[in-house]
Amino acid sequence: MEEFITHKEFEKETYSCRNCNCSLDRDEIENWKCPRCGNRVIIKISNKHNDNYILVRVLPSELRKSDSVFLDDSNFYTVLGVNDQFSGERIYANLEEYGSFHFKDTWINVMWRNNEGVY
Ligand SMILES: [Zn+2]
Repeated sequence: MEEFITHKEFEKETYSCRNCNCSLDRDEIENWKCPRCGNRVIIKISNKHNDNYILVRVLPSELRKSDSVFLDDSNFYTVLGVNDQFSGERIYANLEEYGSFHFKDTWINVMWRNNEGVY
């Protein structure tokens, strides 16, 4: 039940920063933050069904309750709670309609919801 990939990059992604009101190239982005201001990069993706989504990428330790995680089955799952007792290395989150999910130390695709600011 933990085979989903959470850090997938999609074929058609475009990157921007709302704070700087600019487009960004993939090769100038590190750690999914804007190289100019440090806000999270807004990522527009199209999946294989040509559905469009707007994501940000966060680390497991940055996951928050009520975030919507985009798993590899192209569904969003709401985070009901995060168990971070393992402090960043292994995070267990309780996902609505999914159950417990073990996040490894990789980037997680999360629905953008005005959460591009670095917290
Ligand atoms: Zn910026």
